[in-house]
Amino acid sequence: MLKTYATLREIQHDLQQGVLSTQDLVRDHLENIKRKAHLNAFLSVYEDEALKRALEIDKKFKDGKPGKLAGLIVGLKDVLAYKDHPLQAGSKILNGFVSQFSGTAVQRLLDEDAIIIGRQNCDEFAMGSSNENSAFGPVLNDVDNERVPGGSSGGSAVAVQADMCRVSLGSDTGGSVRQPAAFCGVVGLKPTYSRISRFGLVAYGSSFDCIGIFAKSVEDVALVLEVIAGPDEADSTVSQRPVPSYSKELQRPAVKSYKVAYVREIDESSGLQPEIRESIQNKVQEIKNSGHSVEVIDFPLMEYVLPTYYILATAEASSNLSRYDGVRYGYRTANATDLSSMYKKSRSEGFGKEVQRRILLGTFVLSASYYDAYYTKAQKVRRIIRDKTKAIFKEYDFIIMPITPTTAFKLGEHTDNPLEMYLADLFSVQANVAGVPAIAIPCGADQQGLPIGLQVIADDFEESELLYFSNSLMN
Ligand code: GLN
Repeated sequence: MLKTYATLREIQHDLQQGVLSTQDLVRDHLENIKRKAHLNAFLSVYEDEALKRALEIDKKFKDGKPGKLAGLIVGLKDVLAYKDHPLQAGSKILNGFVSQFSGTAVQRLLDEDAIIIGRQNCDEFAMGSSNENSAFGPVLNDVDNERVPGGSSGGSAVAVQADMCRVSLGSDTGGSVRQPAAFCGVVGLKPTYSRISRFGLVAYGSSFDCIGIFAKSVEDVALVLEVIAGPDEADSTVSQRPVPSYSKELQRPAVKSYKVAYVREIDESSGLQPEIRESIQNKVQEIKNSGHSVEVIDFPLMEYVLPTYYILATAEASSNLSRYDGVRYGYRTANATDLSSMYKKSRSEGFGKEVQRRILLGTFVLSASYYDAYYTKAQKVRRIIRDKTKAIFKEYDFIIMPITPTTAFKLGEHTDNPLEMYLADLFSVQANVAGVPAIAIPCGADQQGLPIGLQVIADDFEESELLYFSNSLMN
């Protein structure tokens, strides 16, 4: 067992001093992966490859030329392309698929000497809030093995929670990084939409999809963000704004007091577990005691956020997932009699129940007779939600709220009721609908010892302030 390191900076210090080797680090994480195999967090482990890379990186340390992320052990959610490695988005329909290229974010990690240790379990096509929709079985929460880790990036959250890697890259379309981060007691960032290139990210809802970062410290999240964010020729939607040095900016002295908003509708929400309300209110008090102001605001649109998300995300998903037809790649039925039965059977056998439900729902809201009633209307509501959210940031630096209405629930608790499952995303989807950045940080535990997450939301491209403020709340 190696000593516990709080940040990559501490690890790199010891690597530089020669008191630790990258190989030791890799071996330690591989051991944890084996010891915790029952959690089902990894779908593939790149053992030999990671050890070989560690050797090369140790040499770079000796030569004095390590990359910025040298010594960082990373896991990838099974929606991120890594050249010559399997990629299935937690789905049977991509059986046997191997990536032909690495996504931009993944390539940028590798270029800075991070070591990729494996591919992580997730809900099929990132659709879910409990990781129970994976074709590879559920992931278990390391705090309580009878409970879910959240979803859809469940494997990625648990891998950081249980020290199987230091950082995971996940994807957050409606909360899939922040919600599992909250259930597992780790940090999870969803940056501004378009801050990180989506090239090499399996598409779910393209106008919502963001690559997100899990770690135990805000500092490691900041460092990884500055490496992977920024312009990319391969993604025309990515922002051209220069990328600040987020990790350096974290070290600056406190210069101002912030104005924070706290949403009344959430505080009063009947579905909110009382211990979460209490722990967020304690945090509010702490924030006030540190010289910031916190004001209660009204956001009456809150009840429209979830339906807007589920209409638009499923519409986009139904279109994005039309490419899985059994012809070009992945699974093809063995029982086809003609072309049309080949499409139908491949898709019916290859996709799980939840993915099929979403394709049906998305196709319905896009159909000629219902397009205006659902899709167009939801687009208009989305615009209003974005405008009203942006208006809050004219007056306040941050909005704070819980990530989830409850702490981690039991496996199987909501599997028979999709609506109940969708309610797990009640507080996380606003940031996706508005496109603004948001982070989950640990904020105590309930009476059963289950982690509670605090969410901090900021205005577009205010990651630097967001990370700075969140970091101060962790100490
Ligand atoms: N739980 C949400 C959904 O099922 C969010 C998923 C995500 O962010 N990928 O759509």
